[in-house]
Amino acid sequence: MHALNALIRDIPDFPKPGIVFKDITPLLADAAGMTQCIEALAEPWRGKRVQAVCGIEARGFIFGAALAQALGAGFVPVRKPGKLPADTVGVDYALEYGSDRLEVHRDAVRPGERVLLVDDVLATGGTLEASAELMRSLGAELCGASVVIELAMLQGRERWASDAPLHSLLRYD
Ligand code: AMP
Repeated sequence: MHALNALIRDIPDFPKPGIVFKDITPLLADAAGMTQCIEALAEPWRGKRVQAVCGIEARGFIFGAALAQALGAGFVPVRKPGKLPADTVGVDYALEYGSDRLEVHRDAVRPGERVLLVDDVLATGGTLEASAELMRSLGAELCGASVVIELAMLQGRERWASDAPLHSLLRYD
């Protein structure tokens, strides 16, 4: 994972003062790095009968779609409000200041379908837990979640209410 680490760039004070943004675009631009990244994301889930990979808007789409291909699974987009064209279900969740909402098509997964959540960064954990709640509301069976980067000092893992595993490739303390 050492090489992947070098492909993540810190951008201080983006999008707001005090936030260090983990920029994954150097990783996306590096073919060998992305191959290694997707293989490492897929590895814990091989043989786990994942049927759908749910990628969280927007960077979760990139890793999620590639991971779905690697696992021979379908891909389901979890989106910001008002973006999906058909009938949706949504969940509101708290941010540090204010709240946000995520939506998925009501028919995106079948009851009992085995789903895996994917995002680029786990920060406070609100986004991932809200996505898990969405999947539970549709009756899906949650295999777990994978993120490329875990910002461990923000303790997002504590917000993950499921017994299913939560894997991260790179941890920053
Ligand atoms: P959270 O809900 O706090 O875990 O935030 C996770 C979501 O916000 C993910 O979809 C990330 O893409 C984004 N995010 C939060 N913090 C950062 C950060 N420092 N760098 C890049 N993306 C971030």
